[in-house]
Amino acid sequence: MPNADCQMPNEMLIPNSAFGNRHSAFYHPPMPLKIWIDGKFYDKEDAKISVYDHGLLYGDGVFEGIRVYRGKIFECDAHLRRLFDSARGIRLIPPRSPQQLKAAMEETVRINNFSDCYIRLVITRGVGYLGLNPSKCPTPSVFVIADTIELYPPEMYEKGMYIITSTVVRTHPNSLSPRIKSLNYLNNILAKIEAADADVPEAVLLNQEGNVAECTGDNIFIVRHGQVQTPTTADGILEGVTRQVMIDLCKKLSIPCFEKTLQRHDLYIADECFLTGTAAEVVPVTRIDGRPIGNAVPGSLTRRLMEAFHKHVRGEPNS
Ligand code: PMP
Repeated sequence: MPNADCQMPNEMLIPNSAFGNRHSAFYHPPMPLKIWIDGKFYDKEDAKISVYDHGLLYGDGVFEGIRVYRGKIFECDAHLRRLFDSARGIRLIPPRSPQQLKAAMEETVRINNFSDCYIRLVITRGVGYLGLNPSKCPTPSVFVIADTIELYPPEMYEKGMYIITSTVVRTHPNSLSPRIKSLNYLNNILAKIEAADADVPEAVLLNQEGNVAECTGDNIFIVRHGQVQTPTTADGILEGVTRQVMIDLCKKLSIPCFEKTLQRHDLYIADECFLTGTAAEVVPVTRIDGRPIGNAVPGSLTRRLMEAFHKHVRGEPNS
């Protein structure tokens, strides 16, 4: 359903120059961004990967999107664990240890003078030949980008977001498992295009059984009768780091929260709905397929959890 409330997708990396105020959480000096590639820093315009890299030729690689809040990498261990699990899932041996990758990320954040930012950590199969065979790629390539990101416009966090259910089916777990954060996001991209066609920024994908999986770059939660619910790992989701933080926060706040297989009908009859993701953080959803969720405004529990999340990431106490 088209809507007039500026629901168009706005996924973009914001250039440095957009942040001139040195008191802004996003401030860093107007210098070329430095990108870490295989142990060396390059200015952004010189940061290049070979056209023979199988990450580019075949989407053969894995990655993480990670936030830094107040100079500290948020949930660093969880992200590195997932990265190494993803690598194992595609039979790629990372050329650096988790400690080395953490150090590379910290160095990249420091050299770019960031306090709050978004990190993209990528490991590709590496440079090979034009055939598929990964054994022809002797060394995986690793790179780290630290930059700012704004996935959705700020007003959506206030008013809520409209989403659709996509016709694209989430990848079967016995094909490329959705638990692997691989460089192949075409399934998600097709769903994202479908969302844009419908004038909304996001789409929720159903799995091969027709049950709810996740959105193109976020996990999905609903609230019903005071209970928070989110699809299970077996339903075709990426095991989101933010999702787990949210589950833990609910526990801490004594809010009942369950991992549960959900049908599309559960979305339609939900009292509230919200999405979680590293880049998106927590964003309320107020319409799905044109149908209002609850009263079509961000729900009270959603608002409470958004606030709790923001306190948590900044190390402020939640009670
Ligand atoms: N699902 C998908 C498909 C994702 O790409 C992401 C990450 N953007 C998420 C869920 C959320 O995961 P996380 O909270 O770890 O960022």
